[in-house]
Order: sequence, then C-alpha cells, then structure tokens
Amino acid sequence: MSLVEVKGVSKRFGGLTAVSGVDLTVNAGEIHCLIGPNGAGKSTLFKLIVGLYPPTEGSILFDTVDITAERPYARVQRGMSIKMQAPSVFKELPVRQNIQTALQERLSGSERIAEEDRLLTLLNLAADCDKLAGALSHGQQQWLEIGMALALKPQLLLLDEPTAGMSPEETFKTGELIRSFNAEGMTVLVVEHDMAFVRQVAQRVTVLHLGRIFARGTLDSILQDEKVAEIYLGK
Ligand code: ADP
Ligand code: MG
Repeated sequence: MSLVEVKGVSKRFGGLTAVSGVDLTVNAGEIHCLIGPNGAGKSTLFKLIVGLYPPTEGSILFDTVDITAERPYARVQRGMSIKMQAPSVFKELPVRQNIQTALQERLSGSERIAEEDRLLTLLNLAADCDKLAGALSHGQQQWLEIGMALALKPQLLLLDEPTAGMSPEETFKTGELIRSFNAEGMTVLVVEHDMAFVRQVAQRVTVLHLGRIFARGTLDSILQDEKVAEIYLGK
C-alpha cells in the first residue's frame, strides 16, 4: 500500500524549474532513499511533500487523501515529520528542552520524562542533555533534530541529508536508529549522499536529476545503470 503518492508534481521558481513532472510512490513501511547530484531538486521535493511550498502543478496524496492544498501543520497532524537539510534546533535552549518542545504535544508528566530519557539515550546525548544545543557539534545537532522529528512518532519521517557532518561511526549508528524505528512501522523517506548509508538502510532508491525522476529500483540495479554512473558519480 502506498503512503505517499506524488503525481505529476512540478515546482517553478520564476524561470527555473526545480522539480518537473515527478511521480513518486512511497510504500507504507519502507525506507526509501532519494539520491541525485546537487541541485537535482531533492530538498524542493521534500518541501513540496511537507507543504512548505505549493506545487506549480500536480497533486500529493497521503494515505489516499489529497493533501495538495493542506498547510504544513495539517500534514504534521496527519503523521508527517521532517528534518530539514540545515539543522534547525533551538540553539539557545538546552538539549533536553529541545526534546521537550517536540514531545509536549504528545505526553506529559512522568511519561514525558521517561520518553525524554529514552530518546536522549538512543541519540547518544544523555551526557550532554544540559548543554545548550548551540554548543553541540554539527553531527550532534543533526542527531538532536532527528530526535525531535522522532519524538512526534510520525507515520512518515522525512530526513534531508541526516548524516551530513557525522563521522562514519555516527553515520552507521544513525542508520541503525532509522532501521529500528522502521522495524516498529515508521515509513522513512531519506535524501542521502553517503552510499554506504544508502546500502545500509534503503529498500528502494529513486534517482532525481535536473528535477526529473532519472531511475528507480534497488540500489544494486541503480549502481549498475550506466546512465546513473554518468550523472551521479560523474563518470
Ligand atoms: P538538491 O536538494 O537536490 O540539491 P534543491 O531542491 O535544493 O536541490 O534545488 C533545486 C534547484 O532549485 C536548484 O537549482 C536551486 O538553486 C533551486 N532552488 C531551490 N530552492 C529555491 C528557491 N526557494 N528559490 C529559487 N530557486 C530555488
Ligand atoms: Mg538539498
């Protein structure tokens, strides 16, 4: 069953077409990776799915409901959560309060503290929970933001380059974390450059190039595609 259906979606910024006639299905329960060179339109497509931009053309369905005209908050209420490409944690608040901000809608009292502790431990941030978020490393800020997105317990988690600035160990751990949430039923759409990470998590891969779908399939089938090697790997 498809959880997200992007149908013939385009986005133009003045004379520039960032996303052009894209059809994309994300199946319920899968981890789907979106790859492609810089400027391919990946982040724009994410913003279209979560409602930060209205599409110039086309429609977007979530759980079979047409949400094309819905505001971002309404999409979050339906079960979407996004981690944008640039970390946007609350830098002037302590780490724990960042998690609290994301949780307070859902839990209160001792239940909330228990969930905070669980997430802080999962994210390797328990020892730093009283530090200001702005004092964390870039990689740790990425983790914190992933934690804030996870705190909403979304049906669909959208992650735009979650491992940027992370060490290989942190990247691997992020992959395992995403897989564990996926095993509990969360659907994940992730933009990623790191091929080891894509191999670790992706069940299906879509390649975007110049705003269009260029290839899709398993990672192995895509890596064997000579057209993809030309545009993506620069060969
Ligand atoms: P990717 O995430 O794949 O690197 P983006 O979606 O960020 O690509 O960008 C796709 C294209 O759209 C680029 O040419 C970029 O400069 C352009 N673009 C993205 N956002 C805007 C915007 N808000 N206004 C104008 N052009 C934009
Ligand atoms: Mg991007």
